[in-house]
Amino acid sequence: MKVAKFGGSSLSCGENYRKVKEIVDSDPSRRVVVVSAPGKRTANDNKVTDLLYICHAHIRYKVGYDDIWNNICERYLEIASACGLSEGIKDSLNSVRSSMTSASSEDDIVSRGEYLNALLMAEHLGYDFVDAAQWLFFNYDGTVDYKKTYAALRELAKVHTHMVLPGFYGVMPDGSLHVFSRGGSDVTGAIAAAALSAECYENWTDVNGILMADPKIVRNPKLIRRVTFNELRELSFMGAEVLHEDTVFPVRQANIPLYIKNTKSPSSAGTLIMESFTDESEEERARFITGIAGKKHYSIITVSKNRMTDDISFIRRVLEISERYDLHVEHIPSSIDSFSLVIATKSLYRCVHAFVADIQKECQPDSIKVCDEVSLVAVVGRRMQSTKGVSGKIFGTLGDHGINIRLIEQGSDEINIIIGVMDCDFIPAIRTLYESFT
Ligand code: ASP
Repeated sequence: MKVAKFGGSSLSCGENYRKVKEIVDSDPSRRVVVVSAPGKRTANDNKVTDLLYICHAHIRYKVGYDDIWNNICERYLEIASACGLSEGIKDSLNSVRSSMTSASSEDDIVSRGEYLNALLMAEHLGYDFVDAAQWLFFNYDGTVDYKKTYAALRELAKVHTHMVLPGFYGVMPDGSLHVFSRGGSDVTGAIAAAALSAECYENWTDVNGILMADPKIVRNPKLIRRVTFNELRELSFMGAEVLHEDTVFPVRQANIPLYIKNTKSPSSAGTLIMESFTDESEEERARFITGIAGKKHYSIITVSKNRMTDDISFIRRVLEISERYDLHVEHIPSSIDSFSLVIATKSLYRCVHAFVADIQKECQPDSIKVCDEVSLVAVVGRRMQSTKGVSGKIFGTLGDHGINIRLIEQGSDEINIIIGVMDCDFIPAIRTLYESFT
């Protein structure tokens, strides 16, 4: 049995709904389907979820929202009519509308996008609709109660052999609805796959898979055919927009292969994500790099103190101050008498003056320097481990192109090398590295 999750762009209109049915019908093992709410049909269109957030704001401030609601209804009605479905969705839309009152929470309202889409998709596929409120249980802190959730879905699967599940939401212990953060239907699909020990989890979207670099920076980047969960974590953390970051945990723990596939091009291989690969092809072995990702707008705070290494609590005291200000320190490159904190500029500038003043007062360094406009670029690849010359090639390539390196980091598992460059060198660095490694 496979769990197939379809994202909003794959469900944006009746025409796409028909493509989804072809995909599901072409493989009888696709018995569990998870859906997002309808996404954008064109670049200027709206996602139904965004419209529902706006409805909630209107209700809260007692402003009429008939136009927005009608816009939402038209989306579902178009799909129903294009796919020749019954008029039942009209009643569902009416009952959702009458349940939307000032007592409704934001989560109650935005969850209806997936709920209504799952009702329609269930009818379209001839599968059973199984509400997320029946099986996806959250703890009060917003984490998933996996034990209760898995047990509930397994019970439901005994009765419903073919089901459509709405993504994105579940229930709190008090019965109220709760949603994941945006893009959370990916997580619902992963939980369903793990609960039901699926053969694989397919995440259907509007791209061919994960690309080796951001297509907004590199023209036609190559597709990553196979990537490990660790590599994916590194690439996603460093800015590659792939899946909701909580997607990996359930499938990884249950050792379930995860595929990213393209609804518009179902026969394309897509990207396969697994714990490890034992059967690497010759071509794969020849390529050290899996992908390149990066993020702009970092600040480097360099704290210097003569004989710093003799003061063994110095670094800890500075870090305690950053903790007090809730600053996420992403890297800590160091030398003998100084060390630096690499922090996203946006979060630092909430409190930069107070933060620096506290370091000065409590740790009495000789100097504190703040340098902004730094970008981090990560070169990620499982085959870099024990491969000689990869960092040499990175530095040589950047040097040859006149790009100055501000900082260097390599994790001891040798799966990534991170370099800091000035923001103005961000795009040239990624392009240059991509070209030299592909
Ligand atoms: N519809 C929700 C969103 O737009 C959840 C999802 O699509 O995964 O974020």
